[in-house]
Amino acid sequence: MAQARGRTARRTHTFTESVIREMTRVARKYDAVNLAQGFPDFPAPMLLKEAAAKAIYDDINQYAITWGTPRLRQALARKYLDLYDMEVDPEREITITCGATEAMASIMLALVDPGDEVIVFEPFYENYGPDTVLSEASPVFITLEPPSYRIDPSQLEAAIGPRTKALVLNTPNNPTGRVFDREELQAVVDLCLKHDILAITDEIYEHIYYKGEHLPLATWEGMADRTITVSGLSKTFSVTGWRVGTIIAPPEITDAIRKVHDFLTVGAPAPLQEACAVGIEELGSSYYESLALEYSSRGNTLLSALQEAGFNCSAPEGAYYILADFSQISGEDDTTFAKHLARYAGVASVPGSSFFSEPDRGRSLVRFAFCKRTQTLQDAGDRLRAYAGTRT
Ligand code: GLN
Repeated sequence: MAQARGRTARRTHTFTESVIREMTRVARKYDAVNLAQGFPDFPAPMLLKEAAAKAIYDDINQYAITWGTPRLRQALARKYLDLYDMEVDPEREITITCGATEAMASIMLALVDPGDEVIVFEPFYENYGPDTVLSEASPVFITLEPPSYRIDPSQLEAAIGPRTKALVLNTPNNPTGRVFDREELQAVVDLCLKHDILAITDEIYEHIYYKGEHLPLATWEGMADRTITVSGLSKTFSVTGWRVGTIIAPPEITDAIRKVHDFLTVGAPAPLQEACAVGIEELGSSYYESLALEYSSRGNTLLSALQEAGFNCSAPEGAYYILADFSQISGEDDTTFAKHLARYAGVASVPGSSFFSEPDRGRSLVRFAFCKRTQTLQDAGDRLRAYAGTRT
């Protein structure tokens, strides 16, 4: 019998399931080393684990305040002041969410109207497109060209039109490894101010960079009241499963975001927010520096292994991914290559096309994550070299 209406909403037909998460399932199926989804395979700091257990035993097990437990908001406000000289009101400008993923979705739903345009730089982290579509806005993509992946101000200005509401900037960047420099950020700032555009900045890798510096866009002159800063504790404290994300935004914008967040999730896990507060209070700059140092060494291990196996790639400036060109190893498309690599080499990666609006742009690319123990990366390197040897 013909159905008058489809059973599923049209908006769900316009994007696909997450390829990153799918590749984790592929890795499990073939027992491959999972360098696809970016989550650590080493333990979180003991201090955090103990604080989480203590919070549970102390009966912090009911809903936290919807927009975040006071201790975590206060700890964050102090951190932003100490590290970035950024004044943030913990009462009116901070919202704690279920990961940066919920943060991005709540922000889009709170700020963007149907028909609005949102500028997204590509290659992009795959959530930004669907987040835009769920709020019935249109993503406008700007392609950053390899190998430099620099932001070109004239290309950005050309993409801005009367319906442009916001742009999404992710730095340090997943998947390119770029840490956008002062000149690029200044160009973004100038255009946001000139054209009255909101900046949604995903700074989840704020402490993981090997070159340059992390300069939150909200600290640039004129940007505090038009920047929505997203971050979280998943990457900083190696607790991706805890789902604790953070949003900093001016009060009026925060009010709208908090309403959406409340009806989506009520709040992030109460005991884990408490533990993250302890982490921020106790682990300061020296922890962040050693985190970056350790990742730098892991990145070097993976980079040499990839280059020795015949991939064309360069050292990332930040975050914990390497986007690698495999055209010297195989002429297959990225999805076929990534699936073969998981099955026959025993190493899972993410097909490059999932980071682009036009799949062809990522046809000869795959992304590897190096948030893994050195031993895991060496094992993956051995497998990749052995596999490439059979193909070239
Ligand atoms: N940010 C991580 C990645 O790009 C994982 C994100 C996720 O699966 N939620 O792999």
